[in-house]
Amino acid sequence: MKILMVFDFDHTVVDENCDIWVIKCLPTQTLPDSVESTYRRGQWTEYMGRVMAYIGDQGVAPDRVRSIMETIPFTPGMPELLTFVSENKSTVDCIIVSDANTMFIEWVLQGVGLREAVDQVYSNPASISESGCMELRPHHSHQCAKCPVNMCKKKVLETYLSEKADGGEVYGRVLYVGDGGNDLCPALCLSERDAVMPRKGYTLDKMLTRLRDEEGKGSISAKVIPWSSGAEILQELRDMNLKKPLSEEVLFSHEEDGRGGPQPREKTSSVHVVALNPNLHSEMIQICLIQHRLRKAIKASKCSKLYPRRLRKQALMVPRWLSYDPHD
Ligand SMILES: [Mg+2]
Ligand SMILES: [Zn+2]
Repeated sequence: MKILMVFDFDHTVVDENCDIWVIKCLPTQTLPDSVESTYRRGQWTEYMGRVMAYIGDQGVAPDRVRSIMETIPFTPGMPELLTFVSENKSTVDCIIVSDANTMFIEWVLQGVGLREAVDQVYSNPASISESGCMELRPHHSHQCAKCPVNMCKKKVLETYLSEKADGGEVYGRVLYVGDGGNDLCPALCLSERDAVMPRKGYTLDKMLTRLRDEEGKGSISAKVIPWSSGAEILQELRDMNLKKPLSEEVLFSHEEDGRGGPQPREKTSSVHVVALNPNLHSEMIQICLIQHRLRKAIKASKCSKLYPRRLRKQALMVPRWLSYDPHD
């Protein structure tokens, strides 16, 4: 099963805030009060729309903005980490979930040749208008009271995981790397198999510490692994990536092949059956196991336990009780 890396962008992948860095493209390198004073709490993206309009009005061309964005410094160790991710695409998927904008992120990653490390960028959509100005739109609307109006990262992550599960991809582990207050909401939806990796000394790190002090260890299911450099995350990822399962594993997606049986997804070790389709019977799983000469590995009694009817699509991760080691 693959690992999913989820990255915040500002102060995580890069060591600055894109929306602040972009001001460097102005001849004065500052914003006038008439623009700066229009910021309203919780409405940063709308404010940035006005900043970008002002930059356009000053005659700064998008190419100039791009060349400034390409000079933003990366957080130490991040280029090496993303290089490792791009070299291990068969075992690691990677997405960016950021409240910056799609265009800045694309420019920064392309500038260092690391765009291919990232499968998807989820951010506020940006485009260049006919008049040459950058225009920003909110990423989505949501019901979460804790997040800024334009983006709830938890909603982004849950939608991504659910769509991937529909396509048969279930991640063994999710690693969420971030620094900010808006990274707490998604961190709280992670399971105990996952890890949230807050940047040491930054807001998310402090919030998680406070949460644990006030509500105890049970307040967050995921393992908390603070980091100061991408090298520490790389070490963590290497360790996880290299951990080979003990014996033979077959994963079944909910999709059926022409013969009416569930399709094996990939072979590694220990038997995991992912039952995402409520109409799939345990008998069918048994038949499939026979087809794959694994019948002896799994007892009928275990098989019937493998598929409770209450299991629905939200079972995105393989629960431990669904895994069975033939050598047990
Ligand atoms: Mg951030
Ligand atoms: Zn939220």
